[in-house]
Formats: sequence, structure tokens, C-alpha cells
Amino acid sequence: MNNTLAVYPGSFDPVTFGHIDIIERASRLYPNLIVAVLGNSAKKSCFSLEERTDMLRAVLGNKKGIEVDSFDGLLVTYMRNKRANILVRGLRAISDFEYEFQMALFNKSLDDNIETVFLMSRAEYSYVSSRLIKEIAVHGGDISSFVPHIVVEKVHEKLQFN
Ligand code: ADP
Repeated sequence: MNNTLAVYPGSFDPVTFGHIDIIERASRLYPNLIVAVLGNSAKKSCFSLEERTDMLRAVLGNKKGIEVDSFDGLLVTYMRNKRANILVRGLRAISDFEYEFQMALFNKSLDDNIETVFLMSRAEYSYVSSRLIKEIAVHGGDISSFVPHIVVEKVHEKLQFN
């Protein structure tokens, strides 16, 4: 088992301070962390795969040990190719639990080497979600406390052209 490499997958549509907090904390636990952006989600994304990965790269800069990548298809296949078996997910509230529990069990049944590790959200970000960020912005609300400045700009740009 490779205990030095972890994968944090998600849609990141767009990246929020909640995600960034999980990334920073996971990277303290694991010297190498891949933030893996999901291309083919059942959820229709607001930002393209390229926009989502670009925002993450811009926000994270060149932090040692953190890589931003993207994947399509099954996460377990992606992780096998990367020779990674630690899967990091964030938990905000009980409402996340059921879905995350199901996903963790599914992934474990697809590949028994995969261990899902959950990090609890920081209290101040426990109600922050990409979906609500977009909803608040559509209605003219201020999202600057929840996402980095560069993401605020990208969200506003996106709304202008929609
Ligand atoms: P997905 O579409 O895979 O759920 P998201 O980008 O919405 O992707 O989330 C990726 C992971 O980050 C999930 O485990 C989610 O629960 C977690 N997450 C999202 N927002 C927060 C937050 N504010 N605090 C902690 N974890 C979060």
C-alpha cells in the first residue's frame, strides 16, 4: 500500500474555500496529493473541465506535493493507474454522509485496496457548497467569503454570458 499518495476527487464546480481547506489538510497528512477533477459527471457542470482545473491550478499555485489532474470514467481505474489507494473526501454534515458512505462502499467493492479517508469540514465552511455559490451569485449575492477572488471573477464572467 502506498501511504504517501492520496487522491481527492470531485467536481469542483467551482472550487470553494471548503475544498481548499480539505486540500491543505489532506496535503499535511499525505506528502503527495492529486486533486482529481471529474470530467464525466452525472451532474451537469456549470464550468467546463478545463475551466475547473484552471481555477484550481490558479488558486493552489505551485504548492509542493499537490498536483491537479482530471479523469473520466471510474475513479478506481484512475487510482489504479496512478498506483494510489487512499481516497480523500470531505464531510460537511449528516446530509453528506449517506451519499459518501454509499460511494465509499461501492469503491471498496470495486477495488478492495481503496481506503476512503474522510476529513470533517471546518465549522465555518460546513454550509459552503459549489451549488449554493452559483445560486447566490445568480441572485446578485456576495460570494467573496466563500470562494477565492479569482473564482468570484470567473463566476461573474460566466453569469454575464449565460
Ligand atoms: P462531488 O460532485 O464529487 O460531490 P464536490 O466538488 O461537490 O464533488 O465535492 C468534492 C468533495 O469535497 C466531496 O467529498 C464533498 O463532500 C467535499 N466538500 C465540498 N464542499 C465542502 C466543504 N465546504 N467542506 C468540506 N468538504 C467539502
